[in-house]
Amino acid sequence: MGEFELIERYFKRGAHQLAREVALGIGDDCALLQPAPDTQIAISSDMLVQGRHFLPEVDPGALGHKALAVNLSDLAACGAQPRAFTLALALPQADERWLAAFSRGLFALADTHICELIGGDTTQGPLNICITVFGEVPVVSGRSQVLLRSGARPGDDVYVSGTLGDARLALDALNGKLDIPAALLAQARVRLEQPTPRVALGLALRGVASAAIDVSDGLLGDLGHVLKASNCGAIINTSVAIELLAACRHSGNANAAADRLQLSHEQRLSYVLAGGDDYELLFTAPATMRATVQAAARTSDTPVTRIGRIEAEPGLRLINARGKPVSGRFASFDHFA
Ligand code: ADP
Ligand code: MG
Repeated sequence: MGEFELIERYFKRGAHQLAREVALGIGDDCALLQPAPDTQIAISSDMLVQGRHFLPEVDPGALGHKALAVNLSDLAACGAQPRAFTLALALPQADERWLAAFSRGLFALADTHICELIGGDTTQGPLNICITVFGEVPVVSGRSQVLLRSGARPGDDVYVSGTLGDARLALDALNGKLDIPAALLAQARVRLEQPTPRVALGLALRGVASAAIDVSDGLLGDLGHVLKASNCGAIINTSVAIELLAACRHSGNANAAADRLQLSHEQRLSYVLAGGDDYELLFTAPATMRATVQAAARTSDTPVTRIGRIEAEPGLRLINARGKPVSGRFASFDHFA
């Protein structure tokens, strides 16, 4: 199977009706986007490299999902509405079963968001998947509705969506660093391999959140980016955050569940604070907006938890339930560390 036949068969969808914003899709030298009036185009790229971002034995359908999900998560963090994406693919060989499953996983997620594959590149080489997404952000009365990292202000609440740490828990279990029951691993593995980009929440937070970022490298590391960009500090309540590890939630008593998993308090906290690969939204909002934040969570059907507060004093402070400082080093994931 040649390059063009491969594209034709697995990535070009003939009868498929193009989204309104896509003036021209796959087939020519460029694709064309026609943004609605008074909108900005939000653009983001993410690359997935075998061995670095996924294990060689990963299910290709899940990989198709994840490759797009991590990109949609960036659009979500900016409050952008996904419209289109490109796919640059290096493949060791044209394995038809792999391609069929990969494209199925990819398009299943793309179609839920009406996000169109409009072009890309295909080449032979070690497996490498690079997606670029394009989303729309409205400009209202000359002001962009985009959510940025730089908007947090002292007194703002700090929130995070969904659950944290389970993707890393699954990764450690798959790598043999941790022994967890098969049923729990199966649930955690979905978080690792098929994360849900929080697009609906990002859209609902336009005009509500003061700053936002998606949690890809671990809560504390990504919060650090917000603090740096916003030039402020934060205080985080670890007794609230620790409850966010879903693996300890299912069986009623979270402490008993942690015991059964043989996770120390410190380890459990470390998964939540520095796990990575969560693809949840971390955001801030003025304390006067608490009801509005809850309404955004409801309309987007996404749970959110208030975990702390922005302060003027730079730095990140962790406190326990009694308000006492928590020690411990929670390094977040850095590819070059
Ligand atoms: P060029 O040689 O001009 O770079 P190609 O021959 O690589 O163009 O690609 C032909 C068409 O197929 C282009 O519209 C390109 O965007 C599209 N395309 C190539 N690879 C992919 C892919 N993996 N997914 C989607 N579209 C692709
Ligand atoms: Mg080419």
